[in-house]
Amino acid sequence: MKIQNIPETDLKRIVIVGGGFAGLQLIRVISKKEFQTVLIDRNNFHQFQPLFYQVATAGLVPSAISFPFRKIFQKKEHTHFRMAEAQKIDSEKQILHTSIGEIEYDYLVLSMGATTNFFGNKNIENHSLVMKSVGQALNLRNTILENYEAALNESAPHRQEALMKIVVVGGGPTGVELAGALAEMKKFILPKDYPELDFDLMSVYLLEGSSRVLASMSKNASTKALSYLNELNVDVRLNTIVTDYDGERVALQEGDDLLSKSLIWAAGISCPRIAGIPEENYVHGNRLPVNEYNESLQMPNVFVLGDQAYQEEAKFPAGHPQVAQTAIQQAKLLAKNLLRNKNGKKRLAFHYNDKGFMATVGRNLAVADLPSFRFSGFFAWLIWMFIHLMSIVGVKNRLLIFVNWGWNYLTYDQSLRLLIRPNKKANDSEE
Ligand SMILES: Cc1cc2nc3c(=O)[nH]c(=O)nc-3n(C[C@H](O)[C@H](O)[C@H](O)COP(=O)(O)OP(=O)(O)OC[C@H]3O[C@@H](n4cnc5c(N)ncnc54)[C@H](O)[C@@H]3O)c2cc1C
Repeated sequence: MKIQNIPETDLKRIVIVGGGFAGLQLIRVISKKEFQTVLIDRNNFHQFQPLFYQVATAGLVPSAISFPFRKIFQKKEHTHFRMAEAQKIDSEKQILHTSIGEIEYDYLVLSMGATTNFFGNKNIENHSLVMKSVGQALNLRNTILENYEAALNESAPHRQEALMKIVVVGGGPTGVELAGALAEMKKFILPKDYPELDFDLMSVYLLEGSSRVLASMSKNASTKALSYLNELNVDVRLNTIVTDYDGERVALQEGDDLLSKSLIWAAGISCPRIAGIPEENYVHGNRLPVNEYNESLQMPNVFVLGDQAYQEEAKFPAGHPQVAQTAIQQAKLLAKNLLRNKNGKKRLAFHYNDKGFMATVGRNLAVADLPSFRFSGFFAWLIWMFIHLMSIVGVKNRLLIFVNWGWNYLTYDQSLRLLIRPNKKANDSEE
């Protein structure tokens, strides 16, 4: 069955899977007169992943970092959106199969991002908390709050401790930002909300398998970030490997296990696979190799962007970093190249323009490795906030976040510690 009501026109059809940083950028800049574009995404909104940790720690409402596709596409000619799951590619017939039917394409763009990598450990996958979608960030917030509510009713100290202790695994930017925000919650908020609990029992751990946090940044940034985490009383354990987790016991390779009901897994990513692409086409992390025009090396008229794409450059022999800038830059060039190709012009090769890395650890604490200089502290934190604020989709969202941040900064408090679970039942009391 075909996807219904997508008009057949004389324009070439570009089907884009995934409206993340890459897919959304492409659809915004592609010529609407020259192409028909169809976006397929399993959600009906774009999500701003760099601020997931603030939703998880009750600093921002989910809607502040999400934006509905239909609002973005209002009045955009020849642009269609269908909420569906992409399931299979038939690259010979140029057909994409989805959960709502199939669609023919002239060009297919895969920009499906990445998911959490549990390195094959099913126990960790089943019991840990992750943060790769707004829904998961919200679930993390709810679980932490639920554990604190449960701790109040627990008399055995070791069980109370397990409910209050939080273990973050993975010392990359996500783990560092989250551990810092949780430590600030412990310092400024939770003791006020739960005065009956003994906060000496609460610790935030950050476990990292290698010898430093923020290993993709400079040594200077790693050292500085570690000192900021220590300042916030995060118990950072380097060279520490988690081998298993049953929902309470965090097994460590070196022994000396930890007890915690909240294990947050931020230790790796891997890209989603899609049926129809032979096993041998994937490289490490399930990325798909592309040439300098982001065109799949194996499938004609299929382009891959963002986290999913793998292209080696002299400066990036292991592929480009899986960050928002890579996705945005690739999408901009692909929009140009599709038009150049149509007009018989030579396509332009992609070269990643590295704008540097930043990570924030907490209030007034951030590290920045920019191409021309490296710095840290209050100034880095201000720039981090400014860049993230300006990158958010939608003026209203930007204003909302700005006001929220200002309020949180002045009051040392966030007011979003609500435990809201979806509920379809007519009568709440029946639950
Ligand atoms: C917690 C966190 C913090 C981060 N912080 C930063 C940061 O500070 N700076 C930075 O530069 N980068 C950061 N990143 C990385 C950055 O978000 C990614 O590199 C970027 O989102 C990649 O863009 P993309 O377009 O490839 O994929 P994404 O933005 O992940 O978008 C993928 C889209 O595909 C859709 N999708 C996936 N599979 C299917 C399917 N089968 N069918 C239909 N739709 C599908 C998804 O719903 C999603 O909308 C962070 C990532 C995370 C998770």
